[in-house]
Amino acid sequence: MLIGGPSYWFHALGGLPVARPALSGGTDVDVAIVGAGYTGLWTAYYLKRADPSLRVMILEREVAGYGASGRNGGWVSGEIAFEGDRRTRLAVYDTVDEVGRVCAAEGIDCDFLKGGSLSVATNEVQLARLHRHLEHRRAGGDTEDDARLLERDELEQRIRLGGALAAVRTPHCARVQPAALAVGLAAAVERLGVVIHEHTPVREILPGGIARTDQGDVRASWVVRATEGYTASIRGRKRRLLPMNSSMIATEPLTPEAIAAIGWNDAETIHDLANAYVYIQRTADDRIALGGRGVPYRFGSRTDRHGEIAPGTVASLEHRMRELFPQAAEAPVAHGWSGVLGVPRDWQFAVGADPQRRVAWSGGYVGVGVAAANLGGRIVADLVRGERSDLVTLPFVGHAWRRDWEPEPLRYLGVTAMYSLYRTADRREAHTGRPSRLAGIADKITGRKH
Ligand SMILES: Cc1cc2nc3c(=O)[nH]c(=O)nc-3n(C[C@H](O)[C@H](O)[C@H](O)COP(=O)(O)OP(=O)(O)OC[C@H]3O[C@@H](n4cnc5c(N)ncnc54)[C@H](O)[C@@H]3O)c2cc1C
Repeated sequence: MLIGGPSYWFHALGGLPVARPALSGGTDVDVAIVGAGYTGLWTAYYLKRADPSLRVMILEREVAGYGASGRNGGWVSGEIAFEGDRRTRLAVYDTVDEVGRVCAAEGIDCDFLKGGSLSVATNEVQLARLHRHLEHRRAGGDTEDDARLLERDELEQRIRLGGALAAVRTPHCARVQPAALAVGLAAAVERLGVVIHEHTPVREILPGGIARTDQGDVRASWVVRATEGYTASIRGRKRRLLPMNSSMIATEPLTPEAIAAIGWNDAETIHDLANAYVYIQRTADDRIALGGRGVPYRFGSRTDRHGEIAPGTVASLEHRMRELFPQAAEAPVAHGWSGVLGVPRDWQFAVGADPQRRVAWSGGYVGVGVAAANLGGRIVADLVRGERSDLVTLPFVGHAWRRDWEPEPLRYLGVTAMYSLYRTADRREAHTGRPSRLAGIADKITGRKH
């Protein structure tokens, strides 16, 4: 089994791409973007599409897509980490299609397939949670076309999942090969004239539009911070976004017999409703890619070095995969890896621009950043160009993260306790059939929203 590297997705592309040249000295541009994940790349894309005369430069510490963007579950999800209004929901739903539109227009070959998503209950407590989830969506204006209950029989016509009792299906989700999207997007922005410097860490973002690197200062009208789970690497930003670890495994391709036994013809993305939930996609070449929380957080906001994953995490993800897909009992796990997502103290996504300091940002996506980074990138592009579009009035624009995370060791103790409480709560719920209060206590400790 391969580990890290940093992900199966890059491995499938033949490994990490050869790095583009690093910055060779100080320079002036119109917009300097720090980080070449989806946020930085989409921001650059929409800036150049709107105004080809803008000089846009991306400064990336590793290579484009090296962070969460090249390692994630590949859900282009119609969800964001912000409890918005109906307009917000519709904007996010449309974002799923926008990603598909750009991939088609730019020839980005990333296995985009909009097959929808299933939220699946696998015990009685999760079933009650599923009904509440549906009621919540109805209260937010979702119709049967946006979210629909599938009882067990109907669900089984789509997919045979071990222990599944019922599901809610939404059409607002697509599946992608995440690294192929990042790599394709980087090529697309270069075609538009964006300059990408790789192996160029930014040490500090100074007021007045300065991105400071070891090679010199990049002076810009705007600096865009697009560093998400790695934001602690920038001076003065240590406790802003917590680098929460998420881990994944991918199997070898399933046999045609196993696929026939499972169904899953629309390749819906799937998650269960456990407190420590797992998320799943069927890849274009018929693998199961499944992710969840292993070691949730490393002391001092450290991040993995190259996507490595603890053996115990591989074993627990594999165990859950075999429970859900008994038909794939023979499929070996081919790859395991991990990455970090960015979690602000209030667990709410935010986009903003500070005209005094000449800094703009989009981030704090928590676990749902693939579509949100497209939306955030479009909004940042509007904000720095002074465009008063409908998007810039969405409620998460200008949302302020009022608190940083606690200093260590409180940060470590809080997050580690949260996930151990979730796991205990899941075990108790499975045995007793009653909701465990431990999950609520865990949410109170960390402020996590659902
Ligand atoms: C395992 C995993 C599974 C996930 N699954 C899903 C999913 O299925 N669906 C979903 O919606 N979301 C998912 N997410 C979250 C999603 O991947 C992220 O929210 C999204 O990719 C964030 O994009 P980004 O560009 O903001 O950050 P990143 O992709 O992390 O990019 C940040 C970039 O900034 C660079 N950088 C950092 N610091 C510096 C610096 N100082 N100087 C220069 N460059 C720097 C990094 O090298 C990196 O390339 C998952 C995340 C993980 C880790």
